[in-house]
Amino acid sequence: MVIKLPFGDTLYEVKPTKIIGLGKNYLAPNEPKENAPKEPIVFLKPPSSLIGPDETVIIPKKSKEVHHEVELGVIIEKRGKNIPREKAFDYILGYTVLLDITARDIISEAIKRGLPWTVAKGFDTFTPVGPRIVGKDELDPSDLEIGLKVNGKVRQLSRTSGMIFKIDEIIEYVSSIMTLEPGDIIATGTPEGVDLLKPGDVVEAWIEGIGVLKERVDVEK
Ligand code: MG
Repeated sequence: MVIKLPFGDTLYEVKPTKIIGLGKNYLAPNEPKENAPKEPIVFLKPPSSLIGPDETVIIPKKSKEVHHEVELGVIIEKRGKNIPREKAFDYILGYTVLLDITARDIISEAIKRGLPWTVAKGFDTFTPVGPRIVGKDELDPSDLEIGLKVNGKVRQLSRTSGMIFKIDEIIEYVSSIMTLEPGDIIATGTPEGVDLLKPGDVVEAWIEGIGVLKERVDVEK
């Protein structure tokens, strides 16, 4: 399926070669600083998990506990390897709202057993993006309100300034490992308040200056 998001006066076709996720990139209020990871925790999500705005997140049969995670999505504009943090913003196209949907029961078991996160993060429909892309020159992403409601009730509400590893540090780190390609998406981690999604729920995720990404929730038939 082809996803197109408004970007200025045009439509941008969302076709990443990879979606890079950050684990544990915000501390909860009152959480000790020592809990912050020393190095970014990086994982991959498959591009097949993408959906656009106003679609449906499907809870798979394999999970009993699917959680929402609202995140700032960074979209890469040009190819880069070993990008120094001072040059990181030269490689960014823009920003969007991203949901890193996660099977919490599966990831908890994976962490306990030292297994990869691929299954917990990789189901179809587990990476909604939208409602549009805002160009990097139109938005300073360093301190924006980021939030999520389920059925009108606020579950997550924070600011992007809470990120442990900032966007430029993340790009420097990730590009020291893998070449970033045009269209690649970085999910920069979620603030506190992640919780359960149920069939019939309506999710509204927002970031100040970008807009509201709205999705329904259903179960795998
Ligand atoms: Mg996440």
